[in-house]
Amino acid sequence: MSDDHRAAGDDRRPRLAHDPAVPRTVFVAPNRADRPIDQFGAARHRCPFCAGQESLTPEEVCRRPHGAPGSGWTARIIPNRYPVVWEATAPPAAGPSARADTAHGVHEVLVESPRHDTCVVAIDPQAWRESWILCRERLADLATRGDLAWTTVFKNAGPAAGASLEHVHSQLVGLGFVPPVAEAEFVLARRGTAPFAALIESARHERRIVAECGALVALVPPAPRQPYETWILPLDARPHFHADAAAATIVADLTRRVIGRLLALEPGANYNWWLHQAPLREAIPPGWHWHLEILPRLSGFAGFELATGCHITTAGAVESARRLRTDT
Ligand SMILES: [Zn+2]
Ligand SMILES: [Zn+2]
Repeated sequence: MSDDHRAAGDDRRPRLAHDPAVPRTVFVAPNRADRPIDQFGAARHRCPFCAGQESLTPEEVCRRPHGAPGSGWTARIIPNRYPVVWEATAPPAAGPSARADTAHGVHEVLVESPRHDTCVVAIDPQAWRESWILCRERLADLATRGDLAWTTVFKNAGPAAGASLEHVHSQLVGLGFVPPVAEAEFVLARRGTAPFAALIESARHERRIVAECGALVALVPPAPRQPYETWILPLDARPHFHADAAAATIVADLTRRVIGRLLALEPGANYNWWLHQAPLREAIPPGWHWHLEILPRLSGFAGFELATGCHITTAGAVESARRLRTDT
């Protein structure tokens, strides 16, 4: 059956499309065309993420503090009503044809406040830590499944970053394969170059460290795609955030600090962040560190970026780091 034939039929399950001429994978998810768009405030009175509106969302996966549905919550995780993947009870059959066609995995939403907060820095600091603790716990759960090859959590903050609802939330995704951007990082590490140790060392040398807290560091990478791009990562080689129990509260404190400073420098800035972890089923690349990449969206990606895969920025790494540090 051709993809076009299938799209015209009843099967609206997400699927994968590959292009033999270019290294690209596309998730075809017709179901996502039905997503409601918040219009950023217009639908606040029926926001499905606010406390008291839980009946508008699919049944909850987990919450903090742990407790029965109906009790109060600080953060909760629910299935995404419009997933980019299809969660079957059994993983897809092995073989190249299955990989080519099946978008198997998990797609969930982490609601980060029971109030209609629209920015992470508006959340009480301890409640924000609870969100990250819940996120780590859920990623650890997903890592025990045999059908996922890789997991992440990502945030779209603001319409320029792709958010369709303004209530603070992130998304967890588990995939049945390792996606190309992550795979490219693993390939580099498997060459034995220990890129993350070198990254931290060069950031110290060039004063690109933004903040340090416990065993984690926030730094501006040497080739930031936008002004103020910042990565948070452990000082030691730890491949999985989900196995790093002490890291969750520190990530909460560092993201709060970095985003607070970003918004002081660029009021109203939109941004994305995403977690890069080692693969779950393949050999872990030597010297690999999990990391959270925070990318401000101060200017759009346009023809040059799409044509070349290269980015143009107006502020270099050292200058971005200097402005992000609050102590200079
Ligand atoms: Zn809300
Ligand atoms: Zn990365």
